[in-house]
Amino acid sequence: MFKSIQWKLVLMFVLLIIAVMLVFGLFFQYRISAFYHNSFLQAMRHSFSNELTGQLQSAAQSPDSLGELDKILAIYSGRMGISSNRNYYILDKKTGTVLAGSDNINMLERSDNILAAMAGKTGDFIAQRLPYMDYAVGVDDSYIVYIKDKKEEIFETMRTIYIIVGQALLIGIGISIVLGFFLSRTITRPIGNLTTKAASIANGNYDAKIEIKGNDEIGKLATTFVYMTSMIKSSMEEIAQEKNKLETMFRYMTDGVIAFDVEQKVIHINPAAKDMLRIKNEKKLVFDDYFAKLGADICMAQMLYIDQQSTLEKELETNDRHIKAYFVTFKTDEEKLSGVIVVLQDITEAQQLEISRREFVANVSHELRTPQTSIKTYSETLQAFARGEDEKKFLNVIIKEVDRMARIIRDLLTLSSLDNKKYSAHFEFFSLDELLRDVTEKMSIQAEKNHRVLEYFPSTSIPDIYADRDKIEQVITNVVTNAIKYTSDGGKIEIYAGYLYNEVYIKIKDNGIGITKKDLLRIFERFYRVDKARSRERGGTGLGLAIAKNFIELHDGTIKIDSVYGKGTEVLIQLPIPNKDEGENTL
Ligand code: ADP
Repeated sequence: MFKSIQWKLVLMFVLLIIAVMLVFGLFFQYRISAFYHNSFLQAMRHSFSNELTGQLQSAAQSPDSLGELDKILAIYSGRMGISSNRNYYILDKKTGTVLAGSDNINMLERSDNILAAMAGKTGDFIAQRLPYMDYAVGVDDSYIVYIKDKKEEIFETMRTIYIIVGQALLIGIGISIVLGFFLSRTITRPIGNLTTKAASIANGNYDAKIEIKGNDEIGKLATTFVYMTSMIKSSMEEIAQEKNKLETMFRYMTDGVIAFDVEQKVIHINPAAKDMLRIKNEKKLVFDDYFAKLGADICMAQMLYIDQQSTLEKELETNDRHIKAYFVTFKTDEEKLSGVIVVLQDITEAQQLEISRREFVANVSHELRTPQTSIKTYSETLQAFARGEDEKKFLNVIIKEVDRMARIIRDLLTLSSLDNKKYSAHFEFFSLDELLRDVTEKMSIQAEKNHRVLEYFPSTSIPDIYADRDKIEQVITNVVTNAIKYTSDGGKIEIYAGYLYNEVYIKIKDNGIGITKKDLLRIFERFYRVDKARSRERGGTGLGLAIAKNFIELHDGTIKIDSVYGKGTEVLIQLPIPNKDEGENTL
């Protein structure tokens, strides 16, 4: 109870009253005692004026000096205020013993004032610490008149003051408790109200009414609180709306979504994902085990802590469905990785369509081969008999176009056999350096014919590679042909080769027309040509790079194209260097 502000305020009031009364009492005590001491001294000095001193001196000379002195002092006792509390004494000046006095005491403490008087001075020193006040005056050489006041009057006054202060203190404390209690309530009550409302708002009741009384600090606090509540309310509504929207989207989207926490447990799954993967009890799923079962080589710890990869793409096959899964890590506000989200796309139909499309292309290509061969044979035969210039020219065009058609059919058949994994490859160890020298030599003639310069810059040593020589040659020839095709007269094509760690690299660089960033993204697509007219004119099919990519991937290598539009293009091919024994065993 005493921890509440209300009681703390009451306590403060009480302590304040006590402090005030204490200071007041002490100050009063000091002033009253100073006043009494002062008036005693004044009274004594006044009493022992020349008149009394003179009379005392002459009495001291008389034969019954002691009796005379006593008599004079008795006469003056009214003026000196002699009473039961204040007495006079006649002391022996030499010994300080009591010879006579207004009471019967015959032993007195030898005070500083008595000692002063014995030394011939007036003893009028007031010592506040002593329980009495005294005054000593030497008379002649034999006596000392000594006045001693027991301070009874001071003590009495003090007692009365203490009682008054004590009573005032008690009344003050009583009033301060009552006043403090009611005054502090004016502060604590609105705070209490606000606290209750805050608790109800925390429980989601944003419509709790808050009364604003006055414009003081608490009033301002209440206004701010009302404003804050309205802001929270609108934010919460917005969040709830967003949440609803997301949940609806989640529920009805055709793509599956599963969120896993770092413990590999499912924290969210939508109906599409459940349906796609036929999940009955998602609580039992554990990320690594589950995706291992589906044939995806993926490990959550690796994604979160080692690779820190933000996205991974895997293909899963389950229940006759073909599913593409995208794995993305997600973070909390503090940039701490908190799990993985898997987005699933059912690509079964798309894949079937793609297979049919490829089959169709393969069939058409096959069917076209026979008419194409016939057209070529007949055209060549006709050319042999042709007489007129025009006839020859037309037949030349037909033969050129039929050759292009033959190239397209060849490329298409190559691609479809690659798609169907029916392509036979002949792997062997061979020198890449030698192959590049051969290609450079062969292509230099073509380059020179087109007014280009083709040069090869090998690094000091290039290890042999284990690959299908023909295919690698086809890829390099294709890339170099492109470099020649898409470079202007006087262009320069450079081939660099070397090795880094366990890979050989071949870099084919030209200073030709370049490719824009937008086109670069699609460059490996089948039939994608940046400038169709130029490609066609130069005998291109738009399939060269698609085949090159397939061939290189067949060798577990990579092919990348980098280009600056208008400046030139750089193609980088990387191939693994296998351990000789390992190569023979595995490939
Ligand atoms: P194509 O038979 O048309 O050359 P490719 O698949 O070999 O087909 O290349 C695809 C397209 O990429 C080309 O049509 C061309 O526009 C572009 N390209 C390829 N290599 C280069 C290069 N070195 N410089 C500029 N553009 C290039």
